[in-house]
Amino acid sequence: CGIVGYLGDRDGLDVVLSGLRRLEYRGYDSAGVAMPVEGAIEWRKRAGKISNLEEEIAARPLPPTSVAIGHTRWATHGAPTDQNSHPHVAGRVAIVHNGIIENHDQLRAELGDVEFASETDSEVAAHLMLREVESGKGLVDAMRAVVEKLEGAFTLVAVDAQDPDRIVAARRNSPLVVGVGEREYFLASDVAAFIAYTRDAIELGQDQIVELTRDGVNVTTFDGAPAETKAFHVDWDLEA
Ligand code: GLU
Repeated sequence: CGIVGYLGDRDGLDVVLSGLRRLEYRGYDSAGVAMPVEGAIEWRKRAGKISNLEEEIAARPLPPTSVAIGHTRWATHGAPTDQNSHPHVAGRVAIVHNGIIENHDQLRAELGDVEFASETDSEVAAHLMLREVESGKGLVDAMRAVVEKLEGAFTLVAVDAQDPDRIVAARRNSPLVVGVGEREYFLASDVAAFIAYTRDAIELGQDQIVELTRDGVNVTTFDGAPAETKAFHVDWDLEA
């Protein structure tokens, strides 16, 4: 349903939580965040309101971070439970997903012995991503290999705890925008999530992959070619 990502010098958790709140109007049934911390993924997720997630974070605090991703879920596969909430974590990798992975059953079968922690269609993407980075691929190439296997509609965002200054996202039939600040970058399913921080944005086209690092934004097609993107400036204001 809602996606937010942040890379920059602000506190990533604050930015992501405020972005998720800005997306609340779309409706959701669960919320969660993940971040790379000293070579591992830390995450918190809860069914219900964002305030439930905030209570969980207050009870089990997260360290300051420059990179974080977050999600509000509108369940399509699997009940709205804590376990089925996003992010989904597989080893060193965390993903959030909007949309539906139509061929998730087949992909689960392909993953063989892998143990799943949820009933979602989305979790296959976390395990596929882990398999790709463990085979030695960088996060962008891993994303390219994963999206090649997926059927359906998705915005997929991934972080790798062993490559912590990078966020990679892909989209097909599901929206994704990038917010461009000064040496800080935002990802969201809707500009409302980040216009409190920047109004310069890039709209991703169909079947594109975006990589955020400290050095900027790099967009390519699923095939690996440089992609044409549409930069725009948000000149309207939020109501509230
Ligand atoms: N299909 C996924 C799920 O049920 C994602 C739903 C969404 O877009 O929030 O977990």
